[in-house]
Amino acid sequence: MDHVASLKCLICGAEYAPDEVLYVCPKHGDEGILDVQYDYGLIAQRVDPPRLARDPDPSIWRYLELLPVDGERFRRWRASLGGSAPAYPIFNVGSTPLYAPPRLREQLGLLHLWVKDDGRLPSGSLKDRASAVGVIKARELGREVIAAASTGNAASSLANLTAASEFRTVIFVPQAAPPAKIAQLLVFGSTVLAVRGTYDDAFDLCLQAAKAYGWYNRNTGYNPYMSEGKKTAAYEICEQLGWQAPDCIFVSVGDGCIIGGLHKGLKDLRALGWIDRMPRLMGVQAAGSAALYDAWQAGLSPLEMTPIEARTIADSISAGLPRDRIKALAAVRETGGAYIRVSDEEILAAIPALGRGCGVFAEPAGAASYAGLLKALAEGLVDREERVVVLVTGNGLKDVASARKSVGEPHVIEPTMDSLQRLLLGMVGVDGR
Ligand SMILES: *Cc1c(COP(=O)(O)O)cnc(C)c1O
Ligand SMILES: [Zn+2]
Repeated sequence: MDHVASLKCLICGAEYAPDEVLYVCPKHGDEGILDVQYDYGLIAQRVDPPRLARDPDPSIWRYLELLPVDGERFRRWRASLGGSAPAYPIFNVGSTPLYAPPRLREQLGLLHLWVKDDGRLPSGSLKDRASAVGVIKARELGREVIAAASTGNAASSLANLTAASEFRTVIFVPQAAPPAKIAQLLVFGSTVLAVRGTYDDAFDLCLQAAKAYGWYNRNTGYNPYMSEGKKTAAYEICEQLGWQAPDCIFVSVGDGCIIGGLHKGLKDLRALGWIDRMPRLMGVQAAGSAALYDAWQAGLSPLEMTPIEARTIADSISAGLPRDRIKALAAVRETGGAYIRVSDEEILAAIPALGRGCGVFAEPAGAASYAGLLKALAEGLVDREERVVVLVTGNGLKDVASARKSVGEPHVIEPTMDSLQRLLLGMVGVDGR
């Protein structure tokens, strides 16, 4: 871990040795979000793009030298599990497809558009990138129980990546979390606590419980290693584009950990000199949960923000007081990006648009990034010559009920050719032959 220089408080700038603090700056309590600082000189001696190109491991662990984990210990553990096939899903996180979709490019008049589908990760959302690092940190500390509060995906991710392993997980979700996400938790064997309350209530209870019982806490915007895992999405995008960074990246934003993580990953790559420009980060929020959009518009500092009542169909980006607001506002401000607000109708419409335009099935929060791109194009925030990446953060199978709202009903027919023929005759563009 000699490549990790310190953990730096984003409020007061105090720096701590990695083994000195567990989660947050002691001077600022639960709000004192820390940022991992690296020794880039050391990292540059150990890894570079040509060496990465020769690495056959497609998972995020190809970036081990850039992650805040004890690499030697990780390699020993993985080797001890034997074989060439991954022992657990945790070794299989990463390398999601980056599509260059001809139909969407043509529809939008965007020559250089890519869609990255993180719904293809083991548990179906980008959260696997963070959970993977969290689980390794818990292992380093010898903890056996990992707790998390989540609107659904962080929890189902943690549950998936620890399933069939030595860890037990305790999960706090708001009672209203989509059934598929709760099903994942139960299938993977977590202890699931459905809290009568909001995500924010579940979060606070989880903090107290983890402190009281000594559980390792994976909470977003609290555990400093979550954005470190999420930053691997930025590494992959840049590596998949041959280290030619895009001009802008669209991503949906709730707590702000993903957009903060992307920013961190891009800053790492700039510091190492592997990319020669910083993409603009475009954070997309649901209109009913737009605390960061509002703060950005009003020029507020993250410490001036106050809770709002969040309400949106995109449950994964519903956050009254975004937990990672410091990193989230910095990500947009320091890259010259923008926050964009989209309605629930626009989010729902983006689900079939993505499905039909590039074959990617997104949950509402995953499709929000695409809805944001449409709005940005309409508002002239993006030039049609620019290189644009849309990050899809979650799989549509996570929330089938919302998807069904956006696509109507199937045709119902009798099991006869007659019935089929009658239907086809009434349809435009299908002649039944
Ligand atoms: C968690 C999540 C987000 C938002 O991430 P934040 O770090 O909370 O901003 C977006 N989409 C999906 C599918 C998610 O699970
Ligand atoms: Zn501090």
